[in-house]
Amino acid sequence: MGVEWTDDARLLVENLIAAELTAASDDDRHWMQHLEALPVCFDLGTAYYLRADGCVLVAGLDSDDPKHAVVDSRPTALLNALVSGSRRYPQMSALIPRRPHHAIDCPDPAHEYLTSKGIRCPRCCGLGWIEPE
Ligand SMILES: [Zn+2]
Repeated sequence: MGVEWTDDARLLVENLIAAELTAASDDDRHWMQHLEALPVCFDLGTAYYLRADGCVLVAGLDSDDPKHAVVDSRPTALLNALVSGSRRYPQMSALIPRRPHHAIDCPDPAHEYLTSKGIRCPRCCGLGWIEPE
């Protein structure tokens, strides 16, 4: 499920970064400026950041160097970042792909259970649907 990254998407993330920078603590601001990215979610010591170019960075994978950030190159990285980030930044939900007509409901047997626990289903990234293969 690819996300089409448009100029509007870039602008929206740039604006979110600018707004977040004015509200951030000095420490967070320096870190965001270093990464040039918006914090979108934190998960068990791992932090995910979204750049205005649609690139997702992940930090915290190396416990010896928790601030070391690498590009999250998984195909679902951007979609996950948008779904997670839209909880924190509601405007971001506009960037989540709309369900196409040919989509099917998420077939993952764990989907309902995970969703009921507030955990994002890894199969559909929490969208509730997937594109048939
Ligand atoms: Zn699912």
